[in-house]
Amino acid sequence: IRCYSQYPLSKTITLPTGESYEQPTGLFINNQFVPGKQHKTFEVLNPSTEEVICQVHEARAEDVDLAVDAAEKAFEGDWSLGDPAVRGRALTNLADLMEAHKDTLIAIESLDNGKTLANATGDVALVVNYLRYCGGYADKLDGKVVNTGSDYLNIVKREPLGVCGQIIPWNFPLLMWSWKVGPALASGNTVVLKTAESTPLSALYAANLAKEAGIPAGVLNIVSGFGKITGEAISTHPRIRKVAFTGSTRTGKHIMAAAAQSNVKKVTLELGGKSANIVFNDCDVKKTVENLVTGIFYNSGEVCCAGSRIFIQDGVYNEVLAEFKAAAEAVKVGNPFDPSNYQGAQTSQQQVDKILGFVDIGKKEGATLITGGERSGDKGYFIKPTLFADVTPKMKIWTDEIFGPFGVIAKFKTVDEAIALANDSEYGLAAGIHTLNLNTAKYVADRIKAGTVWINTYNDFHNAVPFGGYKQSGIGREMGESAFDNYTQVKAIRIKIDESGNN
Ligand code: NAD
Repeated sequence: IRCYSQYPLSKTITLPTGESYEQPTGLFINNQFVPGKQHKTFEVLNPSTEEVICQVHEARAEDVDLAVDAAEKAFEGDWSLGDPAVRGRALTNLADLMEAHKDTLIAIESLDNGKTLANATGDVALVVNYLRYCGGYADKLDGKVVNTGSDYLNIVKREPLGVCGQIIPWNFPLLMWSWKVGPALASGNTVVLKTAESTPLSALYAANLAKEAGIPAGVLNIVSGFGKITGEAISTHPRIRKVAFTGSTRTGKHIMAAAAQSNVKKVTLELGGKSANIVFNDCDVKKTVENLVTGIFYNSGEVCCAGSRIFIQDGVYNEVLAEFKAAAEAVKVGNPFDPSNYQGAQTSQQQVDKILGFVDIGKKEGATLITGGERSGDKGYFIKPTLFADVTPKMKIWTDEIFGPFGVIAKFKTVDEAIALANDSEYGLAAGIHTLNLNTAKYVADRIKAGTVWINTYNDFHNAVPFGGYKQSGIGREMGESAFDNYTQVKAIRIKIDESGNN
């Protein structure tokens, strides 16, 4: 939904919490909000009401060029070569400002994405902690001296990559912003970031805070727009040296090919998943069911690592299934600003159609619909928590990422069968194991092909712990020390020493 207009660069928005705030709507280039060169805007919808929140300016290839110019200029100077503690300080300032503005950021996120205030509160807490962590890391990215004998001095140092393009999705708009921006800036890179077209608002608000925090002009540029236009301009840009992407595996493959063809950009990808959540006979049933609910219904199931394939051992199958069904039916779905609701809206009509399409597929494939499978309410993108049982590995509802409150369940007998079922996927982002037996937990965790294994917990993140995928779930790691590897390159400086001692 696009239109030509001379649209203003901000709009006063009254949030459902009663607070009014000024929402920037321009492109953020060189620390200024500007209109796109073609003066195009697009509508941003509230997924809970299907009403238009505002119009946002759209970046085209020429705007991405301008952002790259600004980012390139900012890179060639103190930002990349100066004292890294200065970058660190700017990031910790930003964390402090985000914390001071957290109520507004939380409400914007709920308004734009449809997630509950509780979910958005969790996101913003992670954002603040992660930016602080990255700020603290900035002056600790040391290199080393390699000893090859006294006639040489070998310095191995880490240097930033240059202008980094970053393309983020709509399920965790601000959290994905921080996972991309934090390590890139801490390591001395500059950034051109594209938000998802359905959720551009919190990133633009945060851009203002970044400027206030002392991040210099050109270091961070935010370009709102669509994948095939703005995203494509980033992944094919000849002066962008790295592209970091979070989203579907299909788009990730396309971006990787475009990055290779254009200028062999470095690529990191955080892609889809179909993660296994495994329940053993000796689990704590009550806590396990809580983790199954968190696994698949948290954030309306719009989570790349959602525990969407649930395997239950035969000894507890009937008990866990009955309790899980009861818990799913007790999940309150509705207005994300009502604190009694656990699950808010899906982010778009497209996602609702996709989820309901998979309900039809599941029924046709012969799986048993245990609960849900339909919309909730007559306005807004709300879906009832949905569970299918008797699901088998050939079914599409087993293999495909659905990205909604939609869990598929199967029964297993032995530990090795559970491992085989869990690994029967092209994805490998995460897995959950529920058992009180440490031996079983360790044995299974070692054999699961996934980047994260949670034991007796699920969807449980910490900024110091890396996250990323095996197999087609991605390349590279976010958070923790590993994230800085994605934003630095190694330079070796080898100095010949005159051993005569005369120089
Ligand atoms: P997508 O992967 O196409 O979109 C994610 C981001 O990529 C958005 O910013 C989008 O504008 C951009 N993009 C799209 N096409 C592009 C292109 N050709 N070049 C550069 N950038 C491009 O996802 P979607 O279409 O919004 O959602 C479809 C499905 O993807 C979902 O149902 C879900 O299964 C999956 N998804 C996964 C994640 C995740 O975190 N792993 C996030 C969002 C969506």
